[in-house]
Amino acid sequence: MASKIQPKQANAPRTLIGWQGVRFTLPAEWNITGFSMERDNGYLKVDSPGTMFVQIKWSSPNVRKPITLGDWIVRLWRLFRPAPPGEEKIPDIRQMLESFLKQTEKQARKEKKPFESKIKPETIEANGERIAHHFTWSGQGQGQGKIWYCKTCRRVVIAQVVGQKKDHLADIASEMFGSLCDHPQEGWATWALYDMVAGVPEDFSLKSQKLMSGYLKLEFERRAERIVIERWGLANVVRKKFSLEEWLDTTYPTHSTRSEKQAAIVQEHAGWIAHGRVRSPLDWMRAMRDALFSLRPATRYAVCVWECEETNKIYGIQVWHNVRTKGLLEEVMARCECH
Ligand SMILES: [Zn+2]
Ligand SMILES: [Zn+2]
Repeated sequence: MASKIQPKQANAPRTLIGWQGVRFTLPAEWNITGFSMERDNGYLKVDSPGTMFVQIKWSSPNVRKPITLGDWIVRLWRLFRPAPPGEEKIPDIRQMLESFLKQTEKQARKEKKPFESKIKPETIEANGERIAHHFTWSGQGQGQGKIWYCKTCRRVVIAQVVGQKKDHLADIASEMFGSLCDHPQEGWATWALYDMVAGVPEDFSLKSQKLMSGYLKLEFERRAERIVIERWGLANVVRKKFSLEEWLDTTYPTHSTRSEKQAAIVQEHAGWIAHGRVRSPLDWMRAMRDALFSLRPATRYAVCVWECEETNKIYGIQVWHNVRTKGLLEEVMARCECH
């Protein structure tokens, strides 16, 4: 089971933010307000209840793109003129930072504000994993941040706390950078937002999302396999009409009466789990369609629901997987922290 968030100080609740393998903590009541769907080149914005916000952008300049005809020609050329084996190509992060700060300066100039920025010398951090430059700027507000290259995931990440002149950015920046992890851990990516913390195998990618005040949904896929995590608010209202078992049957009719359904304890709460084969014609069609591109269609289905009384929420997790994948629902369930 994933560990609970450890508050830095007693009586100071923290919120965990996790998106596309990037995770960090901020004070409570900070919330994600902007994001991109892509994994390799992404963006995240988290707003404070006041005037401060956090921005993170990442890119993967060394990730291989799909091979084009041009690439084949280059490869053939190299067969005859092999290039000497080189070291890992480390992107010029200082230059990237300078162009980022130029953009910020342009914005300040537009608003007729004086602009100043400072880039600190390169540092090596996290036992040599990261090459970094810290920076600060002031103009249209002020910012404090860092750009770095991670040797493990080969991402370039630029993250900053932005605020007005009156804001104390240093505390927020030190908390964010002290807790920030820029790639999945032990094969699992943390997805954390709006007080929901979920873990999904890192090779599943985000396919769709719905983030509404009373309803959250994150859908992931790995070739033909899928994971869907949902959360509903106002559980007490729902539960006046339905038992949890009825909720399972009406919300997820995909699980047939022939699947094995049983009561279970999920995250210390009473819940229901069902395992079975894919039954509905729509799911069969989907499994067959996906099988055209994958030798292993997702013919197995599992679902669980539970109610978290502490937070007045109902959670539902569905997985469609192939016969070789074992225990996927249970693993995801154990990492879905509700309170
Ligand atoms: Zn990394
Ligand atoms: Zn709970």
